[in-house]
Amino acid sequence: MNKPLDSTPNTIKTICAYCGVGCGIVAEVDTTTRQIKIKGDTTHPANYGRLCSKGSALAETIGLESRLLYPEIRGQRVNWDTAITTVAEGFQKVINEHGPDAVALYVSGQLVTEDYYVANKLMKGFIGSANIDTNSRLCMSSAVAAHKRAFGTDTVPNCYEDLELAELIVLVGSNTAWCHPVSFQRIRDWKERNPAVKVVVIDPRRTATCDIADLHLAIAPGTDVALFNGLLTFLAQSNALDQAYISQFTEGFAQTLAAAQHDAKDCHQVAQRCRLDENAVNTFFDWFAHTEKTLTLFSQGVNQSSSGVDKGNAIINCHLATGRIGKPGAGPFSITGQPNAMGGREVGGLANQLAAHMDYDTPGDIERLTRFWQAPKMATAAGLKAVDLFDAVYDGRVKAIWIIATNPVVSLPNADKVKAALQGCDFVVVSDCAVKTDTLDLAHVKLPALGWSEKQGTVTNSERRISHQRPLLPPAGEAKADWWIISQVAKKMGFEQAFSYEHPVNIFREHAALSGFENSAGERPRAFDISAYSSIDAQAYQALLPTQWPINAQAPQGTARMFSDGVFFTANRKARFIPVSNRPPANLPNASYPLVLNTGRLRDQWHTMTRTALAPRLNSHRPEPFVEIHPEDAKIHGITAGHIAQVESVWGALLARVIVTDSQQKNSVFIPMHWTQQFATKSRVGALVNPVVDPISGQPESKHTPVKISLFPATYFGFILSRKTLAIPGIDYLVSIHGDTCQRYELAGIGQTRPWFEWLEQLLRDNTAEHKTLLQLQWQHYEDTSRGIYRAAAFHDNQLDTLFCVAPKPDADNLPQRDYLSSLFSKTELNTDERLALLSGLPTVGTQDSGATICACFNVGEKTILNLIKEKNLSNHHEVGKYCKAGTNCGSCIPEIKALLGKIPR
Ligand code: SF4
Repeated sequence: MNKPLDSTPNTIKTICAYCGVGCGIVAEVDTTTRQIKIKGDTTHPANYGRLCSKGSALAETIGLESRLLYPEIRGQRVNWDTAITTVAEGFQKVINEHGPDAVALYVSGQLVTEDYYVANKLMKGFIGSANIDTNSRLCMSSAVAAHKRAFGTDTVPNCYEDLELAELIVLVGSNTAWCHPVSFQRIRDWKERNPAVKVVVIDPRRTATCDIADLHLAIAPGTDVALFNGLLTFLAQSNALDQAYISQFTEGFAQTLAAAQHDAKDCHQVAQRCRLDENAVNTFFDWFAHTEKTLTLFSQGVNQSSSGVDKGNAIINCHLATGRIGKPGAGPFSITGQPNAMGGREVGGLANQLAAHMDYDTPGDIERLTRFWQAPKMATAAGLKAVDLFDAVYDGRVKAIWIIATNPVVSLPNADKVKAALQGCDFVVVSDCAVKTDTLDLAHVKLPALGWSEKQGTVTNSERRISHQRPLLPPAGEAKADWWIISQVAKKMGFEQAFSYEHPVNIFREHAALSGFENSAGERPRAFDISAYSSIDAQAYQALLPTQWPINAQAPQGTARMFSDGVFFTANRKARFIPVSNRPPANLPNASYPLVLNTGRLRDQWHTMTRTALAPRLNSHRPEPFVEIHPEDAKIHGITAGHIAQVESVWGALLARVIVTDSQQKNSVFIPMHWTQQFATKSRVGALVNPVVDPISGQPESKHTPVKISLFPATYFGFILSRKTLAIPGIDYLVSIHGDTCQRYELAGIGQTRPWFEWLEQLLRDNTAEHKTLLQLQWQHYEDTSRGIYRAAAFHDNQLDTLFCVAPKPDADNLPQRDYLSSLFSKTELNTDERLALLSGLPTVGTQDSGATICACFNVGEKTILNLIKEKNLSNHHEVGKYCKAGTNCGSCIPEIKALLGKIPR
């Protein structure tokens, strides 16, 4: 068993709140002031001390101002007993009248495993419906299904150590640099130390990840299966198959190879289908064929597809055919998006799974789980997957839903329909730590949950490593743990005994015991087994060290790699090859919607921004919703960089700032997934995304929606910098950004008729509740009527209060840069030069606008770096780091620093 941690009283080891890398954190905690300091845990095997920009900024996201602090029913504060009773009675009433399938839970990879376990137990074992699904459906359910088809178990074979053992690393559908930054740093460091290591990036976009790529295959969207079928064909043609492995440990190879050969007979055909250069395809295939230690990491670009499961299996087929699985530095490695997506898989958080890796379609599992839980009413069939679940809410089949720690009004495809579904639903309960989200706005009952820094439980990262998330701070207000809230509701519904948990260790122990329950004697054991923890006590739980499952009598210290012995978890213990053929995406571009919309993550934001947007330095990297478009497409569609574009699909529309870049493929656009109604009036990309799903996994095709684009005919562009938060109605395009020294509002619209000063003064009057000093404001103005430019600054006691700039065009000649002007809000008094600078828009002599943030760790802007490169004639990112520290902490910005180096002519 693990030894206790070495922690001083105010130093606590925990886990990052964000991605599936699952980095260890050491937090120095001051409970009196609720302040914490964060650094990477040098002993945690996921990161060995590294953190990315998001993880490093966690301390800036824990303030109480953004928190839901007490329960509410229809806008009225209530006590917990009333809230719990209302939820329990509301659910029970619907169940009594319409049956258990008329209620649902929609949960999240943000939950700790203990929360997840209790939610799943309540729904499937005691309410008697499997209508519980999770937002992990949107990120990796295709990988789950691919694993189960091939291995007979949802098990990731690899460990992170393989990143530093591989000689060829293939990154498929993964902007690792931005989405799994610490894994990317490990790959980059490994490659720098070993230049012979090759990296291949397979992605339609040229992302920051391509910074370390020896080869970038900018594949045509939706052709991954053709590429990997071509690879399998090539491996067979080049005698690169491991025949001994295939015959001893697998089945179905002949049919699979035949299907691959039928789909992709040679490099030439593959190159044509995937719109790739034939030599590049040949190079990739050749490297793969000749590199024993090949690691293929795949992520949302593979999973978020109507053929996501087949794509996963096409990759796995190539690894099985070469016997490269379960070996150091080799294997197909699905990397997960959320901190505890894997924990959700372990407890059966998906509607088509049962707890502890049991299944609806595995004989004996339903009965086994019924016995273990002594469940009075076990769900006997799979429930509705996320998209179907919200369709059922929309058409009234589901009449009560409880949404926990997620924001489906933003994140699900066809998100306007999801919004309408909740608006029409009889009973909507939302548990969240944030006080305001697009989903919470539609709740009848709001339940305040603990935030990251207050919760306790376990989480599992992409490499099957279970880590302890420890509480750093006392609960905010009346917030409670999700497992506690769910258990209280369960007890009120009459399930007192089964939910009498007092501490998360009680739940973890039960979860561990279930994983080992009837899991050794049978012919077909379950891979997920943490039975070594079945009798763990509170002290040992508190001291739990990060360990990879299985953790049982045979492997008490955990298991780094799976399938090393060639034994799998299918009925005959052999791995299964799965014959697959390339299927095009469900909806193809057409004359009305000629472009393909691809969605994805940004480096410095997380999901729907409820936490990362609280950290000013994370907002400055990409401060607005944007659409990236290739220069030729921009020309064809009349789109201009820096202006606002309207992007429309059959399902919805949005507005976003235009970025013209050749890193985007022709005939496609990219829009980030993060923006919500809380931060931008009309920029939820989920509203556009087609609600098509993979037929097996139910995962939505979030990376391929036909859209059209047009220039939004704005007649004005502007911004407001304000010391206080403002409500600004009536603006077509309005983005609100929390800055270091002030709030920043970007605006654009059509048809302003009133003089701007009149409009501004009225706006401040309307915000008087937040703006009590209005009457004492002193104003200075600048107007260039010939160019339509107007600027106004308001002062209170010589301190800058509000700055407003508006112009008919958005470029730098019309609107000044925001960063320098924002910095003036930090001054208690402005001198004459600075006052002039406000209206001229030009920094005072000796100062400069730093530009958009490149390095979030040290707050270094783009212009600062560009000026340094020019002035000091810097030639690499190490030199840049020496002068301004950019890129010397987490390293997430190194690809962007390199891109800036490339912009300066030598
Ligand atoms: Fe957190 Fe960044 Fe590590 Fe992901 S890579 S777990 S976001 S620190």
